[in-house]
Amino acid sequence: MKLVYRLYELQLRHAFNLASSSREYTPVVLVEIHHDGLIGYGEASLPPYLAETQKSVADFLRRVNLEQFKDPCQLDDILTYVDGIAQGNYAAKASVDIALHDLIGKIKQKSWYNIWGYRKEDAPNTSFTIGIDCPGKIRKKVNEANQFKLLKVKLGGGNDKEMLAAIRDITDVALSVDVNQGWSDRYQALDMVHWLKEQGVIFIEQPMLKEDIESAAWLTERSPLPIIADEAVQTLFDVPALAGVYSGINIKLMKCGGMSNAHKMIQQARALNMTVMIGCMTETSCGTSAAAQLSPAVDWADLDGNLLICNDLFEGVTVKNGKVILPDAPGIGVKKIS
Ligand code: MG
Repeated sequence: MKLVYRLYELQLRHAFNLASSSREYTPVVLVEIHHDGLIGYGEASLPPYLAETQKSVADFLRRVNLEQFKDPCQLDDILTYVDGIAQGNYAAKASVDIALHDLIGKIKQKSWYNIWGYRKEDAPNTSFTIGIDCPGKIRKKVNEANQFKLLKVKLGGGNDKEMLAAIRDITDVALSVDVNQGWSDRYQALDMVHWLKEQGVIFIEQPMLKEDIESAAWLTERSPLPIIADEAVQTLFDVPALAGVYSGINIKLMKCGGMSNAHKMIQQARALNMTVMIGCMTETSCGTSAAAQLSPAVDWADLDGNLLICNDLFEGVTVKNGKVILPDAPGIGVKKIS
């Protein structure tokens, strides 16, 4: 097995505005694992608010020596080796994990949703993200997103009620809200949650600072809507402590190190009676198609990362009438298009 990688810049269709930042590009690293005439594809997506960079991923990948493994299907052994190379580096580890899963699926001639025993019919609707913006641009973005059954609205930018009003001018579609830790007062947060419920919002993601566990637990206990952890949950090891603090977790391959850990996190969250959302970063269809393999097992999907870019390099998962459509293809189901 031979691993190769290259650096790539994703160009965003719209500048991506969050409570704390704005940007037009997302750097990624694309990975290929070659074996016996087959290629497994993987990706690390590196939004600048996370600790990893193209350089840190490249440094990590140069240390990965897969030539010592004869059989790619030794998945657990290989992932244990990769995990042991260095602490952290979850996006770098995810890129190897995804490429390995893709390769193994191609060897077995099966998709991963099939290997895990999920049915593609059970894939949920995906939300489509509307970033923080002025009312005019919000209306334009919402009109462009008219096929989606769930819109995810980024709040916490100081104009929350104005954003909601602009959306409700045009559509009564279900909404979820992602505050990205943007609210600081728990009483104001609870008032906002009640108001958002009246606006047709169905759940709230990461309302307050990830470190403020006490406020999250206080809000979750009183909230009429599910409160979902995103920034507050990274890996498998974070999940048990979040039971009772949040209603559910948002799993992302780039946070947890890949498909294998994400699959374990779903089972762990279910055992703790928590709801599960699968999300992504801005990614090519490689990263989102990998995450989509798990989508039949979750309550909500937020898999629009490939739809937010204009220079995708893969075809894979698609969205039809707002629903995630899993490809009938082995591995993670992607085809390289350029
Ligand atoms: Mg989020």
